[in-house]
Amino acid sequence: MNFRSFTNDAIEHGAKEAVGKERLATTRVLHYLQELENRKLYAERGFPTLHAYCVQVLSYSTAAAYRRIAAMRLLAEMPSLEEKLNSGELNLSTLSTVQNFLVQEEKNKKKYSPEEKIQLMKAINGKSRRETDRILTAISPFAVPQERERVLTPELTEIRFVASRELLEKLDRLKNHLSHKIPNPTYAEFFEELADLAIRKMKLNEKEQIEKQSETTNIRSENTSIQSVSAKKKIRDPQGTQTSDTLNPTQSFRIPPAEKNSNSEPHLPAQSRYTRKKDRRALREESQGQCTFIDPKTGRRCESKRFLQIEHCEPYALGGSNHLSNLRILCGTHNRLLASQIFKVTQKVKTEAKPPVDLK
Ligand SMILES: [Zn+2]
Repeated sequence: MNFRSFTNDAIEHGAKEAVGKERLATTRVLHYLQELENRKLYAERGFPTLHAYCVQVLSYSTAAAYRRIAAMRLLAEMPSLEEKLNSGELNLSTLSTVQNFLVQEEKNKKKYSPEEKIQLMKAINGKSRRETDRILTAISPFAVPQERERVLTPELTEIRFVASRELLEKLDRLKNHLSHKIPNPTYAEFFEELADLAIRKMKLNEKEQIEKQSETTNIRSENTSIQSVSAKKKIRDPQGTQTSDTLNPTQSFRIPPAEKNSNSEPHLPAQSRYTRKKDRRALREESQGQCTFIDPKTGRRCESKRFLQIEHCEPYALGGSNHLSNLRILCGTHNRLLASQIFKVTQKVKTEAKPPVDLK
């Protein structure tokens, strides 16, 4: 823009007008995020969390995505804050700080009533982020997040957090234990050594842990989980063409007889809930320890390697077999998504109960 012909008054007026529009746009973004969450659209697009969607699809930085999601959740709970957000009395930063504070307080078994939350918001109305921190710290010193990650260079990140006395005592014990190997380490050296130790131990236990998890989740989720056979087939045949725009749960029941029977195992009872070790190993290798959900629209595969579960494509409760051809690995988000699509169950009762949002 060329401002040369603008008077000072015009510049001031224009800036105020633009900021007002920016605030309205921010509120609108929060409504869209709420709807993305309500509809679990991020899961349908192959993302395990709304945050991952915000970063990878909406191109927010990690911190910006966290701020918006936290603010969105507080706004969803307290719609009256919208007016103050639009007027500038509250901003994204203070809303997300309060939301994180409340979440932390809840973890510490301190739940705030709606009236207490309203009082809290009145106390921070019009305050800066720093003033908000002071007010919240006075209420509950350890509930205000003090952690920070700051990227210094592509290779270096500064991490800051507050350690309790208990944590320092544990770290001292570990330092003494490792002193023969790394005497007088810096914190960075010390944590790298701890990370190496933990990874080595994790690798040693990984196989047993996944197998144990598989057995547990197998029994727990069989009554509620259904998966898309078409998506599973796509993982096994990446060249396969998938044309459907949205997941069609009914397709899950159509398992090709040849595939279903091709893996008959004489020692496995037809309706056993037990998953063979060799099948679990095969699934692990096939999935490479990653969720196998694929968005039918974009072909994007979920990248989650956390909370993985072995699930039945055709549910056990509906007669699905325990043969390898009927099993797949999904993360918790996609297990719930597919189950809800099949059984028309919305998982998030809290958000479901809210009135529809006007996205005009
Ligand atoms: Zn997933």
